[in-house]
Amino acid sequence: MKPSIRRIQAHLGVSADGIIGPQTLRAISQALGIQEIPTWPSQSEVRNGKSIFGAPGREDSLVSILPAYPLYFEEQQVRSIRVHRLIAPHVQQALREVLEHYGREEIGRLGLDQYGGCYNYRPTSTGNALSMHAWGIALDFAPRGNGLKVQAPRATLSHPDCEVWWQIWEKHGAVSLGRERNYDWMHLQFARL
Ligand SMILES: [Zn+2]
Repeated sequence: MKPSIRRIQAHLGVSADGIIGPQTLRAISQALGIQEIPTWPSQSEVRNGKSIFGAPGREDSLVSILPAYPLYFEEQQVRSIRVHRLIAPHVQQALREVLEHYGREEIGRLGLDQYGGCYNYRPTSTGNALSMHAWGIALDFAPRGNGLKVQAPRATLSHPDCEVWWQIWEKHGAVSLGRERNYDWMHLQFARL
């Protein structure tokens, strides 16, 4: 016999209403040690300015975070990085997980400490619409080996040793243009395509 949803809910300590809603799902994930993958708005939702990320170019929605390991922007170490406040905990946690998995030496070897920036009020490379960078919800890493038109397997971030790097970001709901579209491998964003 299938255990009733209400019994599972009672066991998890959430209100036993028999409905599998967000609260129950969260409790199940927690009980099983599964991290929920957050669902971020789509690019078009972000661009209409009515998503949780608000209007573009709003510097007051950005916060500064201290990265878990040193990041370098054009050879200069950056003290902190400025990202949209809603993605900040995810960026911080993802970088912690990257450090934990790879360690400093491997991070350096793979260029995962080469930072290409986040907030930038600018259009996309085609110039037709605002880039997700204009909301501070896109980050670029290892720009040198991962230029806009560099495809796999030339793009260094497409190599198998970067698989875990992407798995970590994807666990936080971020999207890689490289993994999804095979261009701009440096770029990841907290908006669906
Ligand atoms: Zn980018």
